[in-house]
Amino acid sequence: MNLSGDFLVIGSGIAGLRAALSLAGAGEVIVLTKADPRESNTGYAQGGIAAALGPDDSPELHARDTIAAGDGLCEPAAVDVLVREGPRYVRELIEWGVAFDVDAEGRPALGREAAHSVRRVLHARDASGRELGRLLWSRVSTTPRIKVLDDALATQLLMSGGCCDGVAYVNTRGEQGLVRAGRTLLATGGAGQVFRETTNPAVATGDGLAMAARAGASIGDIEFVQFHPTALSVEGAPRFLLSEALRGEGARILNEAGEAFVARYEPAGDLASRDLVARAIVREVERTGSRVYLSMAHLDPDFIRRRFPTIAQACAHAGLDLTRDRIPVSPAAHYVMGGIDTDLDGRTSIPHLFAAGEVACTGVHGANRLASNSLLEGLVFGARAAEAMRGPIRAAALRHGEVVRHAPPQPEATQVPDEFAVRDLMWRDAGLLRARGSLERAVAQLERWAGAAEAARPARAGDHGFRRVGSLVTVGLLIARAALRREESRGGHFRTDFPALDDLHWKRHVSDVLTT
Ligand SMILES: Cc1cc2nc3c(=O)[nH]c(=O)nc-3n(C[C@H](O)[C@H](O)[C@H](O)COP(=O)(O)OP(=O)(O)OC[C@H]3O[C@@H](n4cnc5c(N)ncnc54)[C@H](O)[C@@H]3O)c2cc1C
Repeated sequence: MNLSGDFLVIGSGIAGLRAALSLAGAGEVIVLTKADPRESNTGYAQGGIAAALGPDDSPELHARDTIAAGDGLCEPAAVDVLVREGPRYVRELIEWGVAFDVDAEGRPALGREAAHSVRRVLHARDASGRELGRLLWSRVSTTPRIKVLDDALATQLLMSGGCCDGVAYVNTRGEQGLVRAGRTLLATGGAGQVFRETTNPAVATGDGLAMAARAGASIGDIEFVQFHPTALSVEGAPRFLLSEALRGEGARILNEAGEAFVARYEPAGDLASRDLVARAIVREVERTGSRVYLSMAHLDPDFIRRRFPTIAQACAHAGLDLTRDRIPVSPAAHYVMGGIDTDLDGRTSIPHLFAAGEVACTGVHGANRLASNSLLEGLVFGARAAEAMRGPIRAAALRHGEVVRHAPPQPEATQVPDEFAVRDLMWRDAGLLRARGSLERAVAQLERWAGAAEAARPARAGDHGFRRVGSLVTVGLLIARAALRREESRGGHFRTDFPALDDLHWKRHVSDVLTT
């Protein structure tokens, strides 16, 4: 089926849905989404959404924490937009009826999370994303000028005269179609599935990043991937996230001997930032040869069950009692800080193409994201992109950084890998701990696989499995190349052969562009 509209939004997470609501005031909107519209990273968010609403908080304090977490690479202008406009958009959600938990006075109850200096996180128990998705979806699905096309996997941006004018898609029956629109927003979310161990759901394969890269868009800071320290680690069970909010409420990370070891590696202990805790866990596992655990056994069991019902249930499915048992945990890929370079209004380097949410890189997270800032990012920058899409087309005011150009992959007559091979390679060679040798190996292998995918693309246009692998290979190669290039350690990017921060050479953004 071919369609056309004024605005095309690809993705139905917080960024896409919030944008669609604004766009509906200015024209016909088509929302394309590859699975059920409620399936997204947004729906799995647990801890909540950060906003400077507390009596002891301010946008300045929120900015300070965000910039400290970003390890020298946050774009101050983007942070300023996030922390100043965030409270307004969060209040709007409250007016629309989002069911955040409230305190005894009926005000939003604010949670504490790692690396936040005050309580700042609005939440709906431990299923905040599900509640936000419910609210936004209930509005989108009843707004007359928004048409939602689900089971529609966007596969390729349509280009005309150097501008984007829509997208090609395919459904699970293999039927293909085109959607044409004057303005297109990529809100396709993250790419955690590029790694074998991830907290992200199956839809998070980085398709938007891959499509934009193949169309020649500038992709920035893509080496910066956040690895969450505490995913449930039980054989055969999904890597369910054990939210930072657990540690915010007093959970401890213990080794096999029952010792709280993180403070031995990091002075801030269990509440240090995610990358520091994740690496402390890896080091402790290497030192002891045994597993590590999260424990809440010293806390009030009724409070735990009330505050964290979803997590308690996920543990129960794995045969564990969150209130009593030590829960085995390990790090997993969680969030991609880099993405499609945009200005503060979502404009990309391709005219008529916008991006917002986890797929975009405004520079707001720098080299590492502060917990609970990404739902806020999707909300604020989704709304801002929509405002810009309603206005006249202008060139993007992208931040200045180095741009590295790469030739597109050349078709190769080798076999297209299965997805597990790609994810396993990325986890082993380009994951939490990186080094030149393993990254060089990864880049060489991914280049061959990218060539194989290029050769197979025309014949396998309608094949969903192939599309998935194609995205994983393209995004994996972008990440591995950028990680090999950055010879220092900063934020989520850690090189065992360059373990120190190197501001002199590397306090800068680098973007990659595939020549078309
Ligand atoms: C387990 C977990 C817990 C988290 N907890 C928090 C938290 O507490 N607080 C916080 O701030 N952040 C949290 N995050 C991160 C946060 O949820 C995401 O960064 C954020 O929701 C991203 O929103 P988005 O709108 O950019 O993308 P998403 O919510 O991921 O939505 C992307 C959409 O694009 C669609 N899509 C993708 N590819 C295609 C394609 N090719 N064609 C058509 N549609 C496509 C998907 O189906 C989906 O609908 C968490 C993430 C996870 C995984």
